[in-house]
Amino acid sequence: MADPKEEEAEERGPVPCSPCRGTGKLNSNSGGEPHAVDCPWCEGSGVFIEGHDAQAAQRSEEELADAGPQPDVD
Ligand SMILES: [Zn+2]
Repeated sequence: MADPKEEEAEERGPVPCSPCRGTGKLNSNSGGEPHAVDCPWCEGSGVFIEGHDAQAAQRSEEELADAGPQPDVD
């Protein structure tokens, strides 16, 4: 039988990251093509990180995407 106290403790365990639903991966359309990226909210762990600044990761990803496809300069 489940002890009520144990259930309560379980609720305080690791919280699945909701943007990626605990998978640690998100589909990104940056670059014009859908591709899986590590979830910036949980850094690919699939576990919600409290107070994590996902926007900082998004910003750097945009910068990387900008620098990604190199123009044809030959
Ligand atoms: Zn996540």
